[in-house]
Amino acid sequence: MMKKPGIKSEYICILQGNILSIGRGTDKFKIEDVNDEIINFIEMLDGEHTYEDICNKFPLGKKWLQQLDEFDLLRDFDVPKTPIDPYLLKRWDRQINYFALFEREGFNARKAQEKLKNSTVAVVGIGAGGSSLISLLSAAGIGNIVGMDFDTVEEVNLPSQIFFKESDIGDLKVKAIKKHITSFNSSVNCEFYNKRVESTEDVYEIIKGADFVFDAIDEPLYYSALWVTRACLKANIPYVSIGSSDKASRVGPMVIPGKTPCYECLGLLPIDKFFYEHKYDAAIMGANVLMVASIAVHEMIKLLTGFATPSVLGKTLHINTEKMAFDYIEHAIKPDCICHSLITYEHA
Ligand SMILES: [Zn+2]
Repeated sequence: MMKKPGIKSEYICILQGNILSIGRGTDKFKIEDVNDEIINFIEMLDGEHTYEDICNKFPLGKKWLQQLDEFDLLRDFDVPKTPIDPYLLKRWDRQINYFALFEREGFNARKAQEKLKNSTVAVVGIGAGGSSLISLLSAAGIGNIVGMDFDTVEEVNLPSQIFFKESDIGDLKVKAIKKHITSFNSSVNCEFYNKRVESTEDVYEIIKGADFVFDAIDEPLYYSALWVTRACLKANIPYVSIGSSDKASRVGPMVIPGKTPCYECLGLLPIDKFFYEHKYDAAIMGANVLMVASIAVHEMIKLLTGFATPSVLGKTLHINTEKMAFDYIEHAIKPDCICHSLITYEHA
């Protein structure tokens, strides 16, 4: 048992009437019908008192501590905190606190932030989704970001690509996003390529060596998804795609090559030539794009750090934006899919 058990300082304890709650949200820990003894017990869990002192004072102390520990609410204040680069702690203190909520055997909040700093994440396509993703990755403290796009910033992009400014209009998106990222977070290493994606090999050359890939490219429709999928399978890198158009926004599925269903397992590819050539007027709202980009980055951080299991692993999160309804669709690995033969993969 812990030498000096205390309630994790990241959790707020609130007493409302005779209900004491620890943490917030739908899964917060609640103690109903609290009495003075329980309040005194909780007050003693400030990290200053030893396990023995607590158990000696409260006859049920041992049992109560066990219950709190089962909900991961306790930390041993006798154990010194893991050393960390002071800059990481100063800048990402609040995010490290968020990770600390998930601390358990084998998961350390400060090491999680260091893991992000040492990670490389590639974003294919710097449109509405890609520019939002890159900005969020930079905010989260990803140390190395790789991106690829060939387009220039236009006025029509500004409502959905909110990290571009009016002064960026006419500039290459790779140039504009690099300017934004480096002014926002000078510690991030950026590698952005002004290139149009035309094959699996184009994607592979950019993403190889990355720890995670985001597919945020939507043209040519479906073929770009095919290229990103095959490049990620070949390079054996986990990836996810996001989309937001008309009333449908989507995150996932997140793919771990060889372990979870890939995009070809879903039977989406390839498609009929008619659809490939079919043009449509994109209906996009910036808020919806930012919503799916935020969810995707959060889920990726789960995978990279291990603070929790990504909810979109092998599943697609579909969001009906009219009803703001969230639905998960689970996928299965297709027995004869290309993702079973990663090593012998041949280029499309
Ligand atoms: Zn597959």
